Amino acid sequence: MTYQSLYRKYRPTQFEDVIGQETIVKSLENSIIKNKISHAYLFTGPRGTGKTTMAKLMAKSINCTDEGKVICGQCESCKQADAGSHPDIVEIDAASNNGVEEIRTLIERVKFTPIIGDYKVYIIDEVHMLSQGAFNALLKTLEEPPSHVVFILATTEIHKVLPTIISRCQRYDFSRIDSDLISKRLDQIVESENREIEKGASSVIASLSGGGMRNALTILEQALILNDDLITKDAI
Ligand SMILES: [Zn+2]
Repeated sequence: MTYQSLYRKYRPTQFEDVIGQETIVKSLENSIIKNKISHAYLFTGPRGTGKTTMAKLMAKSINCTDEGKVICGQCESCKQADAGSHPDIVEIDAASNNGVEEIRTLIERVKFTPIIGDYKVYIIDEVHMLSQGAFNALLKTLEEPPSHVVFILATTEIHKVLPTIISRCQRYDFSRIDSDLISKRLDQIVESENREIEKGASSVIASLSGGGMRNALTILEQALILNDDLITKDAI
């Protein structure tokens, strides 16, 4: 089996698995239940606070074909979303070299209807990294998005995003995750991994994480690799 980082392995697959950000989870879930889906969302906040995770859940949820559930986890659409192979969920990292090129391709293809689900969802990570040209092209699409398209933009640096983009999106501000919530989650994960951690050590990791679950899991991962037995506070 190929090695999977803790962050990927324990990424929430349901809204109720998300740690922290209760208000955002509730609000998004409600909009899905009431079928009031916006065509553009903007998730902003520090790194590792769940923006991409929430974007993926949102994309999975609005394409789930089980009418009675927000996310069934069983239908073809949910399965493909979990496997990262959903043809209607497109993730673009604007910070990568080909980010701008991908935006151009996206804009050309935006008119095509979805294949499995109801929506074509474009998740654009680190959206502040787009060039002026790419921003302008995106803006045109955001002004008149086809009805089957949902954009979810994520950024750690909201001040670098054009105000005209921000004003066209439903904005959600993600906050740093409470240390207690992080350390509790770390303890659960250590248990799932059949490992042991000294009492208080997960709190040390949580305080080093800066409120980011991804940071916390990276630190924990290092500690798990470097220590054969018990993970002590000193080892972190
Ligand atoms: Zn489903």
